[in-house]
Amino acid sequence: MPTQKMLSVLVLVIAGCAQRAGQPGGPHSPVAVPPHPVAPVAETVPVESAGDAADDPAIWVHPEDPRLSLVIGTDKRRGLNVYDLDGQLLQTLPDGRMNNVDVRDGLTVNGRSMALVAATNRTDRTIALYLLDPVTRRLARAGDPVPTGFAEPYGLCLYASRDGGLFVFASDSGSGQFRQWRIRADGGVVGAERVRTFRVGSQAEGCVADDETGALYVAEEDVALWKYQADPGAGNARRAIDRVGGASGLAADLEGVSIWMGGDGGGYLVLSNQGANRYAVYRRDGANAYVGSFELVEHAAARIDGVSETDGLAITSRPLGARYPHGLLVVQDGSNLPAGQNQNFKLVSWRDVAAALGIPDQD
Ligand code: CA
Ligand code: CA
Ligand code: CA
Ligand code: CA
Ligand code: CA
Repeated sequence: MPTQKMLSVLVLVIAGCAQRAGQPGGPHSPVAVPPHPVAPVAETVPVESAGDAADDPAIWVHPEDPRLSLVIGTDKRRGLNVYDLDGQLLQTLPDGRMNNVDVRDGLTVNGRSMALVAATNRTDRTIALYLLDPVTRRLARAGDPVPTGFAEPYGLCLYASRDGGLFVFASDSGSGQFRQWRIRADGGVVGAERVRTFRVGSQAEGCVADDETGALYVAEEDVALWKYQADPGAGNARRAIDRVGGASGLAADLEGVSIWMGGDGGGYLVLSNQGANRYAVYRRDGANAYVGSFELVEHAAARIDGVSETDGLAITSRPLGARYPHGLLVVQDGSNLPAGQNQNFKLVSWRDVAAALGIPDQD
């Protein structure tokens, strides 16, 4: 029979192991697990501006032929760019220092269903609004820019609610304040009305709304990935999904975040863990449990460099042809090789991410 003292020692040993396992860098902690390597399959042409200029992408899925889908990316020193899935430039809009961009289908304007593109414009401190014509695949300005009242509008994401509402969120660079506007298209004119303000606490940029569940995920750069609710009446209630310095290895800045939408509420959140040059993956459902991390390495045969210091990223789970049968991940690359090239965006097949992480890539 073990004595009381023997049992106490055993309990202490077990507790010590559990504590070490939960510590960053401990023998069994996720930090000690190297990220799974994945290689991009395409890259966009470099942006026109030198230095830290490319920032945030959005993906628009063509309603009939997914191969005609588009990547819209910001050049935060110049404007917006529109690329095809081979990364070729189709349209450039030198309309200001656009920082973040997002897109949603289904805005009815003059009886036609159009996609809305919104971007935070630091030049005139507004949200710039565009309509994307699904026939021509071109963007055109829609209505007046929306004044944000912010010293420097920064993060941005769109939310299409289940009851047909369309909303835009934007953050202020310095203050960590978020605002939410309702988008309307009355008589062919697109406009916005402010419906909510909340404070995250410190600088926050990356955000994404889950149109099905109504969740709003916000990356507070030095602190945590938060889950809010996207409904304009939801207030300040939030829950931390993960924190800088925690067991999954998050290192500031936390940047872009997006969702791979599975069926029945399933799928995954992907967060740019910029300080660690990797991406953290969480379950979309339940308490958003941490799944694992991956990094984007060189695709030598295709002569595409690996990815570092990602700011914005975007994901679709819709099949986009043979290269992207289970969807597409687009990420900004902080250093586009060969040396001397301006920054760009890398395109990654979700099939490769899922295979690396050992997660199902379809419903
Ligand atoms: Ca950057
Ligand atoms: Ca940032
Ligand atoms: Ca690179
Ligand atoms: Ca950014
Ligand atoms: Ca390159």
